[in-house]
Amino acid sequence: MLDKSGGPGSLGPSESFSGLISQTPASVKTVFNAAEAQACIKAALDAKQPVNFRGAGHSFGDHCISDGGVLILNADKSRFDLREDHSVLVSGGFTWTELERRLNRHGRRCPVLTNWPDVTVAGTMAFGGFGCSSYSQGSQVDNVTAIELIDGSASVRRLGPADHDLWGVATCASGRLGFITAVEMSTQPLAPHLAQFTLRPPSVEALTQDLQAVASAASGRFEMMMGQIDLNGFKVVIGQPCEPSASTSPALLGPDLGARDWRDVSMPYADWFVTMQERAFKPKTAYIWADYVVAEEHLAQMLKSTHQMAFAHPGAVAWRPRTRILAMQTKAQAPSPQLLSTTRVKNDGILYGVGVYLEPHIEDDAAVQHCRHTLHELLETCLGFGGRPYLSGWHEPDAEIIADDDLSTAREILARQDNDSLMNPGQMPLI
Ligand SMILES: Cc1cc2nc3c(=O)[nH]c(=O)nc-3n(C[C@H](O)[C@H](O)[C@H](O)COP(=O)(O)OP(=O)(O)OC[C@H]3O[C@@H](n4cnc5c(N)ncnc54)[C@H](O)[C@@H]3O)c2cc1C
Repeated sequence: MLDKSGGPGSLGPSESFSGLISQTPASVKTVFNAAEAQACIKAALDAKQPVNFRGAGHSFGDHCISDGGVLILNADKSRFDLREDHSVLVSGGFTWTELERRLNRHGRRCPVLTNWPDVTVAGTMAFGGFGCSSYSQGSQVDNVTAIELIDGSASVRRLGPADHDLWGVATCASGRLGFITAVEMSTQPLAPHLAQFTLRPPSVEALTQDLQAVASAASGRFEMMMGQIDLNGFKVVIGQPCEPSASTSPALLGPDLGARDWRDVSMPYADWFVTMQERAFKPKTAYIWADYVVAEEHLAQMLKSTHQMAFAHPGAVAWRPRTRILAMQTKAQAPSPQLLSTTRVKNDGILYGVGVYLEPHIEDDAAVQHCRHTLHELLETCLGFGGRPYLSGWHEPDAEIIADDDLSTAREILARQDNDSLMNPGQMPLI
């Protein structure tokens, strides 16, 4: 059984998280600091060898594996610099769990944690990073002020939002511009407690209505929000960091939400992100997961399609379906990374991330094929509404479906920076 518990190297370097794809690299090099990464990239480029990057290996498809190239495993945790202005500069090889624990010791916390935080900081920069707090804080990359990377000529670069088009593809382009060595981001004060309220709507229609009602009523009042569908039913969870004494206060819910059937679970804030994880990975399971981003006006239709295809099907029990819905504010940051999924969905309000997670038995070919087909159909449905895929997921390499015209700038920049397409090639259908 694979150890998928997290951390660089917990999966073999040939394996992808899905359990369905493996590739053999020509060589594998673990790097512990930026100088080692730079030397490794320079040697690969000089030899005209492709070089791929891997953090915790928790992306899908063939994102973080290498077919015959050099594969760099990022174990760099050499830098942690918390400044007086409360920004932090960290090596990209930290996992979010490690960074959060480190910050907590200094009375600070990350603005947004991925729901599964045992992925690396650099690895999520490659896609954007969303979690329950994206409702109030945007994506993880929205909270980043600079990154350091090693580019296609093996030079160290520091880039930030002021770098316009370059910044637009430095993040969220699956690491195609270069190897991210360090990330500088804002932090927030550590809250002593978290009040978490849960609502259990009876149907997919009621779930949609509750998500929208809570999102608009709770704006500015709650930091975290998430919906869920599984074979047991529906729920909406909202959370707010607070003082322990405030956790059950009706003032936190307010009169507009107070009449609902909430269940309040209060806990120390620092424990909360641990409870979000599902640590019991199942042996012989194919993880066929993908996330989609849609505007508010299309949430009802997206959830209805998801429910029909993934849950209401007679065979659903065989693939243990689960859907998580995140509400996401887009942050006023110019320019946002061009390939960030929230940047690419036209909207005037809240966006919704709909994650569809299917887990058939790895030897059940019919179920595996059905699950792949379901995610493909949902991608077409989502694109039909003007939605976009979150690129870390399992999206069959069908560039024609996913790509659209506004990627020409990204393509030009990447071609200019990396003429031979040696940096992290062959993994994203877009570029
Ligand atoms: C159980 C589980 C739960 C998840 N939950 C969430 C969630 O809540 N929110 C969310 O946003 N995502 C979530 N994801 C997706 C996950 O965050 C992304 O797949 C992320 O990229 C994984 O980071 P990693 O360190 O495992 O990167 P890897 O999978 O190792 O790599 C991902 C991509 O980043 C590139 N890359 C890795 N290191 C670098 C580097 N140093 N420089 C440049 N590029 C690099 C790789 O080449 C690859 O393209 C989840 C995934 C799993 C398996």
